[in-house]
Amino acid sequence: MTVVDTMAGRLAQIQQRIADACARAGRPPESVTLLPVSKTFGIDAIREAMALGLTRFGENKTQEIRQKAAALAGEGLQWVLIGHLQTNKARDAARDATEVQSLDRVELAEALHRRLVNEGRSLDVLVQVKTSSEPSKYGMAPGDVPAFLRRIAADFPTLHVRGLMTLAVNSPDPDQVRACFRALRELRDRLRQDNLPGVSLDRLSMGMSGDFELAIEEGSTEVRIGTAVFGARAYPDPQ
Ligand SMILES: *Cc1c(COP(=O)(O)O)cnc(C)c1O
Repeated sequence: MTVVDTMAGRLAQIQQRIADACARAGRPPESVTLLPVSKTFGIDAIREAMALGLTRFGENKTQEIRQKAAALAGEGLQWVLIGHLQTNKARDAARDATEVQSLDRVELAEALHRRLVNEGRSLDVLVQVKTSSEPSKYGMAPGDVPAFLRRIAADFPTLHVRGLMTLAVNSPDPDQVRACFRALRELRDRLRQDNLPGVSLDRLSMGMSGDFELAIEEGSTEVRIGTAVFGARAYPDPQ
């Protein structure tokens, strides 16, 4: 593949690859949303992305959302938290995030709900599921998700579940990566049979720069792309 060294070029290339993966999977191209992941990149990079029409950004840390949202206030941007959220940061997330994709435990759901009640708002959430056995990855064990969703539906009405999120195993073997994405989709299909009030499971957030095409083939509705749009990160950011 040719090396593209402008954001506009990289974005166009990613959009083409998303469209191609959709075509291979027999899916309409608009069935997959691109979530650009701007973590570790500064305001200039986000302004460049805005000039290309991007308005919704994925971030890993509440402090970074706070700083960027303050610097770009009034621009109508949406901030999506995709990184691990400590319970003691629930207040910041409840205030500044448009959406949280890393909801992975009851304690966090409880803390977010309490803060959201204070803020008088509700929040779209995805439940992060651990589909690999890598110890470094966060996420709820698949077997715990059914009871978790019942608990949210019963007790935390400020949390609007929209779907599931996962990170696939870091592996050069596409079959292993694909198995993670497939596990998430199959879990979602089983959960749908519970028909919980207020819980919608239409969204599957899966796929990153290195594996989004496999994710699309396995039913992803949202790919979270950082480096392939913004370029290499100057410093690593834990997931
Ligand atoms: C950083 C990150 C991404 C994007 O990763 P790239 O490999 O840069 O595309 C996606 N999802 C999560 C949860 C991340 O932390």
